[in-house]
Amino acid sequence: MREILHIQGGQCGNQIGSKFWEVICDEHGVDPAGKYNGEGNSDLQLERINVYYNEASGGRYVPRAVLMDLEPGTMDSIRSSPYGKIFRPDNFVFGQSGAGNNWAKGHYTEGAELIDSVLDVVRKEAENCDCLQGFQVCHSLGGGTGSGMGTLLISKIREEYPDRMMLTFSVFPSPKVSDTVVEPYNATLSVHQLVENADECMVLDNEALYDICFRTLKLSTPSFGDLNHLISATMSGVTCCLRFPGQLNSDLRKLAVNLIPFPRLHFFMVGFAPLTSRGSQQYVSLTVPELTQQMWDGKNMMCAADPRHGRYLTASAMFRGKMSTKEVDEQLINVQNKNSSYFVEWIPNNVKSSVCDIPPKGLKMSSTFIGNSTSIQEMFRRVSEQFTAMYRRKAFLHWYTGEGMDEMEFTEAESNMNDLVAEYQQYQDATAEEEEDYDEDVQENYDG
Ligand code: GDP
Repeated sequence: MREILHIQGGQCGNQIGSKFWEVICDEHGVDPAGKYNGEGNSDLQLERINVYYNEASGGRYVPRAVLMDLEPGTMDSIRSSPYGKIFRPDNFVFGQSGAGNNWAKGHYTEGAELIDSVLDVVRKEAENCDCLQGFQVCHSLGGGTGSGMGTLLISKIREEYPDRMMLTFSVFPSPKVSDTVVEPYNATLSVHQLVENADECMVLDNEALYDICFRTLKLSTPSFGDLNHLISATMSGVTCCLRFPGQLNSDLRKLAVNLIPFPRLHFFMVGFAPLTSRGSQQYVSLTVPELTQQMWDGKNMMCAADPRHGRYLTASAMFRGKMSTKEVDEQLINVQNKNSSYFVEWIPNNVKSSVCDIPPKGLKMSSTFIGNSTSIQEMFRRVSEQFTAMYRRKAFLHWYTGEGMDEMEFTEAESNMNDLVAEYQQYQDATAEEEEDYDEDVQENYDG
């Protein structure tokens, strides 16, 4: 068994994390009491259930999940929700202080005080595993807990488990859905950490989620519930290959090997089709060509960046439901042939596909897309501009220095993110001819 340990932190992380568990419990036939009550495809539902669940006595399935927060409110609501009893009660770790949307409180002061109790629970879960493949962390980057404490936990885990994989589901802030003005600070400080300490990051950008709700789903005032519905569908799609039998991206390391040509460029755009609002799934039914067309469409991406402004280094397309693999292959070849300029030619065969028999609940077929696109720099540029506008005048800095933070860390975070943008641009501009020139130069140097 190759287990994954799930951790959710802060308000957003806990809200999207608990939705994720509701959705996958449904897909694997696990009821709110942890009992298996699936029918039909029981083999498929149970074959790899140990990737995400522990089996307790009495045949009860318990999520391998740790929940952390610096205030009790969100966890209280999870505990009293329909699936609240499924989690191991000892795995709720929380404080009372709150992080006040301050990354420094999460990373250096309040969060640092609670981190050892979280690590104790993580260690206990890890020791129970047969062969842990890695961790997945759900958090927002705009607040204080998921962001500051979340990245603190990631760095501590990296220290203790350097050879395990670290996947994150990271929610990027947008002024369209914002609570506070300091979100670009918190997000930039987090990206600085994620570049170094995470292996793969699924980018969930509130700006794009809001636009999908507003423009495509015609919801006039999207709530977090609406945004999180899109997130949980996407998380279910992204983890489908890890949870059900299959060949492609069947563990966290294989996913990384396929998608990451350069170690720092591990921030993925994810897309989903068909897009549905809460409670409306049953009316949607798409064909394989329609699913393919939509999953590549910028309007279906959970990140506010236009793939047509960049190029794909790599991509994976995962289809779910009963369909012909031949048709899927043909459609994908078709997309690549028609849009060849959007794929770097110096990574041949950079699009992989798979089909999983089990569709998500309420749909006959769906598709999930994971792309490593240089256009993601647009989102980083957006956050960077918001960061710089405030940092130039040192606005709000006293909240951070008051927790003992050094201004230097802001400067470093800012330049690390700008470097990341430049690296995406560099590979966007790189062509096969340049590579040949390079080879010739190397050869000449060698000869000469
Ligand atoms: P924390 O509890 O200190 O980690 O702070 P939050 O998780 O509330 O972080 C604030 C950021 O997360 C802001 O950018 C919010 O817009 C976003 N956020 C908070 N809750 C949710 C949620 O349930 N869904 C989504 N998509 N974003 C959220």
